[in-house]
Amino acid sequence: MASIHLKNLGHRYPASGAESDNPYALNPLDQVWEDGGAYALLGPSGCGKTTLLNIISGLLRPSEGRVLFDGEDVTDLSTERRNIAQVFQFPVVYDTLTVAENLAFPLRNRGIDNATIEARVADTLSMLGLDARANERARSLNADDKQKISLGRGLVRTDVRAILFDEPLTVIDPHLKWQLRTELKKIHERFGHTMIYVTHDQTEALTFADKVVVMNAGSILQVGTPKELFDRPRHTFVGTFIGSPGMNVLSCTFDGTTAIVDGVRIALDEATLAAAQAQGLASTNAALEIGIRPESLQVIAADANTANDTHCVNVEVVGVEDLGRHSLVRLRLGEQLLCALHPEGAGIPEAAALRIDPACTLLYADALLVEANNEPLLP
Ligand code: ATP
Repeated sequence: MASIHLKNLGHRYPASGAESDNPYALNPLDQVWEDGGAYALLGPSGCGKTTLLNIISGLLRPSEGRVLFDGEDVTDLSTERRNIAQVFQFPVVYDTLTVAENLAFPLRNRGIDNATIEARVADTLSMLGLDARANERARSLNADDKQKISLGRGLVRTDVRAILFDEPLTVIDPHLKWQLRTELKKIHERFGHTMIYVTHDQTEALTFADKVVVMNAGSILQVGTPKELFDRPRHTFVGTFIGSPGMNVLSCTFDGTTAIVDGVRIALDEATLAAAQAQGLASTNAALEIGIRPESLQVIAADANTANDTHCVNVEVVGVEDLGRHSLVRLRLGEQLLCALHPEGAGIPEAAALRIDPACTLLYADALLVEANNEPLLP
């Protein structure tokens, strides 16, 4: 196992960027992945996940910067010499070998003794529920089982410095996915490998990883626990990408005491207010936005009490969708649209107001979270 340090690393593909403003597929970054961590690398298609993973594994040489494993510079070493296991989106198996022989293959290649190979293969077969098929030729297996063999070939070695998974469950039946993710988590707890799991599926990322690394457009935007990403997204992209539906983001101004959305005042909590004041956001050119999760909004009847409550604002209901346990209420605040989750069957008032908890209202300047430890935007 190893810690992985991507030191001042960036990547431009030789042919890319000629026609775009940004030549980088991976913008310059400096990032440490801790020894034994279970990371998910999450982001939309084309954001640079595979590029980053292939640089870590050694399949791709970065156009700038270095890759360090436990402080050792491995930038010029092959995947094999880095001692990395990698599992790809589609099965990589030898059809003519049996299931057990496929699993034994990476161990035999390394000259491991037969007794250890037998024990490791048996253990891996049982982890993946393939014991009964150990002696079948791989070609007779369906796509799910073939991909299980690929996973097994990544997991069978205990001496690897990291295991990298590139969307490994894409071809797997949805029912099995959950089971295999749970199995991977158990394997991580048992062996403590550094694991990096690439996916564009937030459920997969949030259920597998201790830490989720959210990427967009070639940049890492935030590294955090699922809870941190949900509660305090440091970038509006993270807020909208994580959650279903994602965070509401409304453009606003700041007058030194509250946020103002289309003339409607939205109270901020003390810490956010202090940070906004310290950063001079009342007189900034930065684009300001508030972010509020649909789960934090309470739809109530507008009346005299809500009219006098600084935590309540009037809204127009523009639609309601039944999500089973909740309704998704689509609302208009000023000229902007947002949504709230409402308990199923609770009734939606015709004249509606929103109760907004300031503790759940985040403020963003140029898409970045405004918080106490931010650098001031203005000198
Ligand atoms: P996906 O989830 O679709 O696999 P990704 O997040 O893994 O996407 P990458 O495959 O790393 O993203 O691609 C990042 C960017 O680099 C994209 O703009 C892609 O078009 C570009 N790119 C990837 N491979 C090459 C290549 N070999 N040559 C030129 N450009 C490339």
